[in-house]
Amino acid sequence: MSKQNSNDDKNNNFFNKNPLITFAIFSIVIIMLFKGLVGDGSAFNANNGTSTSRSKQVSYSEFKGLIESKSLSKVEIGQSYIKAKSADGMIYTTRLIPGDVNLVSLLDSKGIDYSGFSETNWFTEMFGWLFPFLLIIGIWMFFAGRMQKSMGGGILGMGNSKKMINSEKPDTKFDDVAGVEEAKEEVQEIVDFLKYPARYVEIGAKIPKGVLLVGSPGTGKTLLAKAVAGEADVPFFSVNGSSFIEMFVGVGAARVRDLFEQAKKDAPSIIFIDEIDAIGKSRAAGGMMGGNDEREQTLNQLLAEMDGFGTDTPVIILAATNRPEVLDAALLRPGRFDRQVLVDKPDFEGRVKILKVHMKSVKMDDDVEIDEIARLTAGLAGADLANIINEAALLAGRKSQKTVKQSDLFESVERAIAGLAKKSRRINPKEKKIVAYHESGHALLAETTDGAKKVSKVSIVPRGLAALGYTLNKPEEDRFMMQRFEMWAEVDVLLGGRAAEEVFIGEISTGAGNDLERSTDIIKSMVQTYGMTDVAGLMVLEKSRQSFIGGGQQATREYSDKMAEEMDNFIKSSLEEHYGSVIKRLEEYKGAIENMVELLYEKENITGDEVREIIVNFEKENNLKSKVIESVNEIKEELKEDAKMVKKDVKDEDQTS
Ligand code: ADP
Ligand code: ZN
Repeated sequence: MSKQNSNDDKNNNFFNKNPLITFAIFSIVIIMLFKGLVGDGSAFNANNGTSTSRSKQVSYSEFKGLIESKSLSKVEIGQSYIKAKSADGMIYTTRLIPGDVNLVSLLDSKGIDYSGFSETNWFTEMFGWLFPFLLIIGIWMFFAGRMQKSMGGGILGMGNSKKMINSEKPDTKFDDVAGVEEAKEEVQEIVDFLKYPARYVEIGAKIPKGVLLVGSPGTGKTLLAKAVAGEADVPFFSVNGSSFIEMFVGVGAARVRDLFEQAKKDAPSIIFIDEIDAIGKSRAAGGMMGGNDEREQTLNQLLAEMDGFGTDTPVIILAATNRPEVLDAALLRPGRFDRQVLVDKPDFEGRVKILKVHMKSVKMDDDVEIDEIARLTAGLAGADLANIINEAALLAGRKSQKTVKQSDLFESVERAIAGLAKKSRRINPKEKKIVAYHESGHALLAETTDGAKKVSKVSIVPRGLAALGYTLNKPEEDRFMMQRFEMWAEVDVLLGGRAAEEVFIGEISTGAGNDLERSTDIIKSMVQTYGMTDVAGLMVLEKSRQSFIGGGQQATREYSDKMAEEMDNFIKSSLEEHYGSVIKRLEEYKGAIENMVELLYEKENITGDEVREIIVNFEKENNLKSKVIESVNEIKEELKEDAKMVKKDVKDEDQTS
């Protein structure tokens, strides 16, 4: 911990640590003090201080006797008791008997001066109201304080927000960040500037002040920012956008001020703001909650700070987000975050590089084929890959191996993709049967449909909470586009699960819900977005969303009701049509499915090769023309040919368009 912290510990006495107790004691003392001092609203209280010894509690009948004997000069009637003053200055009090309606007429008849009084006074009354509120505030402050403490701050840490700001000098280098070559190139200039600011300042070059790193979680944005600091050998101030949003208005702004103050003091330096959308969300978009003052103040302070220093001050602000579209436009203006660097999910080659980076620190067996792992992990981010290797190392360790084997990596990949294996979760035999047929249906369609992705594994071991079984498809290359027949093929594969349930079980289940949703979405996007159907022709009904998913912007419908109806009809009828042909295929391959299910029952997991073998054998036995398009060997060949194919593909594309 820092020096600042140890200083604070010295000052921390009991009361500082227990604000609630302090507060409660304080309140009680105050209340008691004032209750004693002020008393009630009676006029007799004026001489309370001097004549307390001359007051007497009497019974009601005694009191009545006093009235009768006319020895009272004045009577005050409260809500629950009566005070009376006798001629000689003695004060009598008695409890009021509420039912005594004759009291007033008795006083009248004796000609005694009487009046009413309120037993409470403004102060106790007010305190009675205020106390619960104060108590709630006290409790709230207590918990807020604990929360802040657990985050490294202290109670009411408005002044000492410096504690929240930690700087380090990372030794991360560009070599540690793999698979994002373009992004690295783009930030290279910043490294140069931080290293040799004078060069740039002399020439008068304008260096960007703020750079927005845009990409999905775990793609290495933080890592890249650190590497910039590491390469330039400058301090790295890192904060999370959400940590600025505190319960107390004004704290966030103060933190921003402190952050910039320190970074400028230590310049050249880097400020990294992770999840900047927490502060920088568009003010227009965030209006639902009636505006967030704290966030707005923090944002304004950030803007003011960024405008406040010139491009000759070597402080660079890097900010990360995966939702640039929600950011306030003010943040993106020139002189602020006017540059965006895409830190994308890695492609095949990128994944190989990232895997290699993380394998450096782990003992790998000779049987490890990085390419194969990279193939299986299309769509995963760097953080997932790092995790996979670590998981594999843990698996190997558990099995007391000296090195991490390919099989460990496979298992780890499966876990990452399909969620943690829940071997302990038993599914009942009926469910198992449904799942086996369902997944076999997917697998058969995947292997016998032109344009479908090949199966790499079929499993009926439940994983995670949702999936009872799963079929892993092998993406042979990174898909950045799909042809129409491939999309239809995917629809068929998705429908294969439900169709198998119908054909082989004779009843359908909820297990196909997700499949149906996805197949519907595919057809919808063909109509709406890709101009692949006659329904809307080339007309686009819905603009493709921003590529950074999660923006959640509600698209407004820009087409007629009739068009909507036609689209619905088209989706429904093509699902029916495809479902029909899928059923036919399954009936044709009944024996193959039965064999697959048998093997699944035996082994719970079967490989893509086993699936293909079963199908090809079945086709041979029944003299069917094989629909399994590539044999196992051909697939392997194809992978090797990948590199050469890329060039040829490009040529083909040019010619066919
Ligand atoms: P982000 O900030 O984009 O959410 P991080 O930088 O925090 O992602 O990534 C978390 C971890 O994942 C890193 O510390 C690193 O171990 C690993 N990682 C992510 N991307 C990469 C990459 N491109 N190269 C190497 N490792 C990566
Ligand atoms: Zn399914």
